[in-house]
Amino acid sequence: MTHTKCLASGQARSRHALVPVLFALIFGVAVAQAPSPVDQYRSRRLIMVSDQIEARGVRNPEVLAIMRTVPRELFVPESVRPQAYDDYPLPIGFGQSISQPFIVGLMTELLDAKKNHRVLEIGTGSGYQAAILSRLVGELYSIEIVPELARSAVETLRSLGFRNVTVREGDGYRGWPEKAPFDRIILTAAPPEIPQVLLEELKPGGRLVAPVGAGVQNLVVVQKSADGKTTTQSVLPVRFVPMKRGTE
Ligand code: SAH
Repeated sequence: MTHTKCLASGQARSRHALVPVLFALIFGVAVAQAPSPVDQYRSRRLIMVSDQIEARGVRNPEVLAIMRTVPRELFVPESVRPQAYDDYPLPIGFGQSISQPFIVGLMTELLDAKKNHRVLEIGTGSGYQAAILSRLVGELYSIEIVPELARSAVETLRSLGFRNVTVREGDGYRGWPEKAPFDRIILTAAPPEIPQVLLEELKPGGRLVAPVGAGVQNLVVVQKSADGKTTTQSVLPVRFVPMKRGTE
């Protein structure tokens, strides 16, 4: 009797024991196939590049290839990380924002920067635009007026191994005379008009890309000829945070 009981409960136990094994087999396989968060971000990044950037006419293969590799999700605050690959700007704190991915791609393409170039960026913000540019150019110098943003951009860029970027906390209206002249200059905050000091820090033959205007802003490309004359071409209306004036 006791033996039978024992046997019965033993059988029941072994049958029950199979249930988690079956679950483990079924769900174990499912878990193994589920993409990791890193892979999920990677596939969203590839879709972002094809649907938002390439589809809207950015063609430079190098720019597209770089944007497929830089992990944008690591440049935005954790609270908005799930939206890192969405088609709009995102807040990065201190009333500032990281630009819409398409605008980053377009401005990078318009800048037409080369491996032997020394480039100045005004408005480091999250460091994302700097990261993209750093893969294209020789040396990148970037100025950020909000100390906390400058510090966290340095940290992010360093942790991801972007070594040819130098970030300085300061006011872009003053330029970076110690490192001038630059082959390329990019502004990611909008001044009412292009600061003269930046035009002076641009090499002959150089190019500057910037959102310009108070209220209505236009993305412009300024080309400086060999004899120092500048021509300005308007590309499209945009909306950027205004370029702030420093206090000193
Ligand atoms: N390129 C950035 C976009 C940042 S938004 C990115 O990829 O995330 C524009 C940035 O310009 C803000 O961080 C803002 O603080 C900064 N900024 C505004 N006025 C400035 C000035 N006068 N000098 C330097 N940075 C400025």
